[in-house]
Amino acid sequence: MRVSNLYKNSKKPVISMEFFPPRDAKASDNFGAIIDKLSELKPDYMSVTFGAGGSNRDGSYQTVKKIIDKKLPIVAYIAGLGLGHNEITEILDRYKEIGVETIFVIRGDKPRDDNYTPHPESFSYASEMIAFIKKRYDFSLGCAGYPEGHIEAESLEKDIEFLKLKEKNGAEYVIAQYCYDNNYFFKYVEKCRAAGISIPIIPGIMPVYTVKMTKMLSKVCGTTITDELQNKLDKLADADKNEVLNLGIDFAVEQCRGLLKNGVDGLHFYTMNRSKSTSEIINRLRRENLL
Ligand SMILES: Cc1cc2nc3c(=O)[nH]c(=O)nc-3n(C[C@H](O)[C@H](O)[C@H](O)COP(=O)(O)OP(=O)(O)OC[C@H]3O[C@@H](n4cnc5c(N)ncnc54)[C@H](O)[C@@H]3O)c2cc1C
Repeated sequence: MRVSNLYKNSKKPVISMEFFPPRDAKASDNFGAIIDKLSELKPDYMSVTFGAGGSNRDGSYQTVKKIIDKKLPIVAYIAGLGLGHNEITEILDRYKEIGVETIFVIRGDKPRDDNYTPHPESFSYASEMIAFIKKRYDFSLGCAGYPEGHIEAESLEKDIEFLKLKEKNGAEYVIAQYCYDNNYFFKYVEKCRAAGISIPIIPGIMPVYTVKMTKMLSKVCGTTITDELQNKLDKLADADKNEVLNLGIDFAVEQCRGLLKNGVDGLHFYTMNRSKSTSEIINRLRRENLL
């Protein structure tokens, strides 16, 4: 399944769901049930992240394979920072062998390991790896974009310049980092279009799963927790986990309504390997005939 064709040809917004390789045996046992539950919603594709520096590359491969074995459309990620060219081609050859047709290419971040030594051939930026892959393979390629700017970026404008380079080098669609205010996404798309970027840009949806996780991830990802969301979270200081999940679902449904009404090409759910929030959000949007 070439994702670029999906975004080009689908008459409805394309629904995608992102997973990471389960971290231990217990999580691995539960993972099959999570995939089964979410596949009932018939997403257009599922995707699997890749550990920075190649850590747990086999975990990513096995997770991709597990989803392919269930006959579900898949996108495999590769994060190139730290890897040599041969390592990259070995990983991609294995994906090609099992029928993967779309690769999402990201740079990745340096692991927090003092003994970490990147391969001397390691690419510094995703755009370079996209060019490398494009020359050697016929995969459909995706890349990441940052509506609030990437945390290391000199400016949003510079970041968009580098996104344009990813398109020039072969990226065919963009999945955006999540934000909690749609205006960041809409303005970003406007600026990308003004800069000449023409490939689909898909908003990422990160429901609130727990207050602690929301704060931690937003710091790492450079996502603003808006005053509106912060006020809601403050009111849940003593709430149980279901109340927090329900707040996350309500907030994400409202956010998706705004995105869909503005004609986005798809919604990309960061599931964090959980099924309840993503299912509930999609079911509610479908009941409202928005999907
Ligand atoms: C949808 C999504 C999925 C992700 N999945 C994963 C995953 O599976 N595994 C993982 O490890 N991480 C993942 N990440 C995180 C990502 O790896 C980090 O955000 C990383 O820091 C940047 O990756 P990138 O591909 O956007 O990098 P790049 O596009 O290379 O950009 C990195 C920084 O360098 C700057 N830059 C780019 N090109 C140049 C240039 N030529 N000269 C100077 N500066 C430049 C950019 O402005 C930016 O600040 C994901 C992010 C998103 C949004």
